[in-house]
Amino acid sequence: MAEAKTVHSPLVTYISMLSLLTLCPPFVILLWYTMVHADGSIAQTFDYLRQHGLQGFLNIWPRPTAVAWKIIAVYAAFEAALQLYLPGKTVKGPISPTGNQPVYKANGMAAYFVTLITYIGLWWFGIFNPTIVYDHLGEIYSALIVGSFIFCIFLYIKGHVAPSSTDSGSSGNIIIDFYWGMELYPRIGKNFDIKVFTNCRFGMMSWAVLALTYCIKQYEQNGKVADSMLVNTILMLVYVTKFFWWEAGYWNTMDIAHDRAGFYICWGCLVWVPSIYTSPGMYLVNHPINLGTQLAFYILVAGILCIYINYDCDRQRQEFRRTNGKCIVWGKAPSKIVATYTTTSGETKSSLLLTSGWWGLSRHFHYVPEILGAFFWTVPALFNHFLPYFYVIFLTILLFDRAKRDDDRCRSKYGKYWKLYCERVPYRIIPGIY
Ligand code: NDP
Repeated sequence: MAEAKTVHSPLVTYISMLSLLTLCPPFVILLWYTMVHADGSIAQTFDYLRQHGLQGFLNIWPRPTAVAWKIIAVYAAFEAALQLYLPGKTVKGPISPTGNQPVYKANGMAAYFVTLITYIGLWWFGIFNPTIVYDHLGEIYSALIVGSFIFCIFLYIKGHVAPSSTDSGSSGNIIIDFYWGMELYPRIGKNFDIKVFTNCRFGMMSWAVLALTYCIKQYEQNGKVADSMLVNTILMLVYVTKFFWWEAGYWNTMDIAHDRAGFYICWGCLVWVPSIYTSPGMYLVNHPINLGTQLAFYILVAGILCIYINYDCDRQRQEFRRTNGKCIVWGKAPSKIVATYTTTSGETKSSLLLTSGWWGLSRHFHYVPEILGAFFWTVPALFNHFLPYFYVIFLTILLFDRAKRDDDRCRSKYGKYWKLYCERVPYRIIPGIY
C-alpha cells in the first residue's frame, strides 16, 4: 500500500524507531515518578538514580497490580460498549489509497458525556473515588505499557493473517511493520473500529478522565482546588470537548486516514496520551499554586482563544472539502487549487486545496494555536520546574515532524499542484507577511 514508504532516511528511521521503542516506556515511568514522588524535580530524580543506579530504577518501576488491571479493563470495556451501542449518525471517512471508504458511527460526543457524568456520579455518590486512580497511577502506566505492547503484537499478527480490508500490507521488514503498522482501518467484526477505540475512546477520553482525577485528588487532599489547577483542568476539558465535538472530522486527518495501526500510533494513544499529555495536571496535584483571579482569568481566556482558533482551522478545511469549495471563508468565496492525483489502482481523482482563510496565512498554521493552547494549560504551573513543559516541547517537535511528513506525502501525491500550493502558501514566520 502507498503509505508504506518511510519519510526519513532508512538509518534515521531505524535509530528513531528503536530509540522510541526502548526509551518511551522507561520515560513514562520516570515522568510519573518525578511528578508524584520527586516534587516534579528532574534534579531530584537524577540524584536518586545517581545514588542507586539501575537497581534503584528497577525499584521505582511499579509492577502492574490486580487493581491496575481491573481499572483498565473496566474502563476499556465501558468505552468499547459505548462505542458499539450508543446511537450516532453514520459518517463516511475519506477514500483510502486503495479506494475503500470506511463507515463510522459518530457517537463520540455522547460517549464523552456519558463517561464524564458516570465518573463524576460514581465519585459524588461515594461508589468509586477517583483518587484510587491517582494513587495507583504508576501501576496503571506499568500495566498499560505491557498491555499495549501485547496489543500491538496482536495488531501485527492480525494485519498478516486477517486484515479487515485491502488497505493493509507488509513493507517486508518486521520492525517497520510492527512500528508503523500493517492495517489502515483494522476492525473487529464489521463495526468495531480499532483506531477509533485506541485513539479516541481510550486515549483522548483518558485525557479528560485523568484531568478530572487530578482535580479531584487535589480537592480531596487539600479541601479545595487551587486556581492554577482549575485553569489547567478547564482548558484540558475544553480541548478534549472540542476534540469529541469534531471527532468525525478527526477521522479525516493523518492519524486515521494515513497512519496505519501500529506501535507508533496505537501505543502512543494507549500509553503516551494518558501519561505525557496529562502530565501538567499530574504536576499540579502536589503544587497548588495560586495565580490570583486576574492572572488565572487571562490565561484561561488566552487558552480558550487558541483552542477555538485551532478548532476553526480544522472546521474551515473540513467545511471547504465537504462542500466541494462551495462555502464562505472569512466572508468570501474561498481561493483554491484543484489538484489531481492517481490512486494506487491507477484511477485519476481530484482534491481541492484551500489557499485562503486560516489556510492562506501560512502552511500548517493550525499547529501554532495547538502549541499555544498547550502552553496556556501548562503555564499555571509557573516556572519552578521544567518537567511540566515537557508536553509542550514534545508537541512542538511532533508537529514539526508531522508537517514534514505531511509535506512529503502531499508532494508525492499531488506533484506539480503541491509545488504550486507551496508557492502560494509558504511557511511564514509572520503569517500573511513573510
Ligand atoms: P490535517 O488535518 O492538517 O491534515 C493534513 C491533510 O489535509 C493533508 O495530508 C492533506 O490531505 C490535507 N490538506 C493539506 N493542505 C490542505 C489544504 N490547503 N486544503 C485542504 N486540504 C489540505 O493534519 P493533522 O492530522 O496533523 O491535524 C489535525 C488536527 O489535529 C490539528 O488541529 C492538529 O493541531 C491536531 N493534532 C494534535 C496532535 C496532538 O498530539 N495534540 C497531533 C497531531 C495533530 P489530503 O490527502 O486529503 O489532501
